[in-house]
Amino acid sequence: MARYTGPVCRLCRRDATKLFLKGAKCFSDKCAIEKRNFPPGQHGQSRKVKKVVGYGLQLREKQKAKRIYFTLETQFRAYYQKAANKTGVTGELLLQQLETRLDNVCYRLGFAMSRRQARQIVRHGHIQVNGRKVNIPSFQCKVGDEVKVREGSKKLVILEESGNFASGQRAVQWLDINRETLTGRLVALPTREDVNLPVNEQLIVELYSK
Ligand code: SF4
Repeated sequence: MARYTGPVCRLCRRDATKLFLKGAKCFSDKCAIEKRNFPPGQHGQSRKVKKVVGYGLQLREKQKAKRIYFTLETQFRAYYQKAANKTGVTGELLLQQLETRLDNVCYRLGFAMSRRQARQIVRHGHIQVNGRKVNIPSFQCKVGDEVKVREGSKKLVILEESGNFASGQRAVQWLDINRETLTGRLVALPTREDVNLPVNEQLIVELYSK
């Protein structure tokens, strides 16, 4: 699956919003939004800030969500389609699917400092779901699934650093986390309150339902 490999801080600067794509750096004064909060590019600083409304606003919200979860357009639209076909609030169901992706679950469990790093540890085969190795970042976890770091990977420096970083973060209610054994279990599906991200999912639904 293709993925965006360019500089990620540009993405935040484009939206003038912190998307928390770089782990610890996002919480420090080295964050690009703190230092250069204007659009990227040669003319970024001189560009007049226009008020975004209507379609433009809907588009920006969708781009933000796509970037936060590192998904591409086709896959993101498929998530929307699946959510729209289910009974319930489409925006919430969309976020629920994004949150229960295996790479995001690993990030929420504190196995990585960012979703991008979580994607990497999954791709490199360090993660097991219900006792079996899974190396697909978009794998959908279900309630009751046990996600853990493989025995041979527990000594990775990245996991220790991530554990220290995660201990300072807000606890996640829908996951049961055991930091000693690097194991987690989905005890519920995430609700909208659990998704503490700067995204208005209703605008995304309006965009796709046109
Ligand atoms: Fe965005 Fe994090 Fe870069 Fe700041 S450090 S601009 S929040 S990715």
